[in-house]
Amino acid sequence: MSIRIGILGYGNLGRGVESAIRQNPDMELKAVFTRRAPESVKLHTEHIPVVHLEDIRAWRDEIDVMVLCGGSATDLPEQMPEYAREFNVINSFDTHAKIPEHFAAVDAAAREGGKAALISVGWDPGMFSLNRLISTAILPEGKNYTFWGRGVSQGHSDACRRIPGVLDARQYTIPVAESAARVRRGEQPEFQTGDMHTREVFVVAEEGADRAAIEAEICSMPNYFADYHTSVHFISAEEMQKNHQGLPHGGFVIRSGVTGFLKEHKEIVEYSVKLDSNPEFTGSILVAYARALYRLASEGRKGCLTVFDIAPAYLSPLSAEELRVHLL
Ligand code: NDP
Repeated sequence: MSIRIGILGYGNLGRGVESAIRQNPDMELKAVFTRRAPESVKLHTEHIPVVHLEDIRAWRDEIDVMVLCGGSATDLPEQMPEYAREFNVINSFDTHAKIPEHFAAVDAAAREGGKAALISVGWDPGMFSLNRLISTAILPEGKNYTFWGRGVSQGHSDACRRIPGVLDARQYTIPVAESAARVRRGEQPEFQTGDMHTREVFVVAEEGADRAAIEAEICSMPNYFADYHTSVHFISAEEMQKNHQGLPHGGFVIRSGVTGFLKEHKEIVEYSVKLDSNPEFTGSILVAYARALYRLASEGRKGCLTVFDIAPAYLSPLSAEELRVHLL
């Protein structure tokens, strides 16, 4: 019998999970749940019900794993504890500073309901976290560096769109090539915010808007831009439509360590992703981890987990024997 998946929240990531399920024959999409009017939500897959969130509890025995695809800022902190009591739930919560708090809330709810949950599954947090953990355990003396980009940051794009006179905006985060080169040479530099990334913003402005004022407001925005070298380009709505509709992203995480009796040898470990579609890649990770969560829940595991708790073999549809033959 295939693993029955529900998707809660149908945005970019919800669509990414839907497309990833199609590449995994042991998985089946059972239903999509939304806060919006179900008839207004059009899926790519035919004959799959779209259900209003208020009816979700009727699906308790129909879904093995519920993938929550809402936003990290407000949707997931509210929805995860609520539905962790009823379903085995998984998400890609990515507000790093709030992960301990989110974990505690989801863990309490999952234990109350006798369910298993898995949070912060994606590439960062997620695959990058795993690589930081493994390479730090292997090379205890060293430093970790995480570079993001080139890619679209939704949070930074949204912040620019809120500026008066801005009709649309897209923000790209770009790693500083020379800083990455220094790390790869094993220098172990101490970087300040702004040494590792630059920011590039494409803006569609209202006609007659004060472009200099918009640029100044973007570049001086605290936390988002003030500490970075930022370039702002004003473009037409047509150009935005033509060249900036995708959601590419990427990044690399590097452990720079030393070994040897005199610590004379440099060891550089790097994991890198280059993504045409951030939500489709993140959706693919969620689906592999949904398989692991299903298996752990079937074994009676309860409470909240992170990627650190999942043995790699649980991710694969292959048997342990097949894995030893083909991938070891
Ligand atoms: P979206 O803004 O596309 O979707 C978020 C929610 O908004 C949806 O679940 C949906 O809920 C609602 N929504 C979507 N489209 C519409 C619409 N047209 N009108 C009204 N509501 C809509 O966010 P993303 O899918 O791009 O990202 C979700 C989260 O994924 C991000 O907040 C981020 O935290 C996380 N993420 C994590 C990564 C990682 O590496 N860990 C990588 C990438 C993303 P509903 O159907 O209920 O209305």
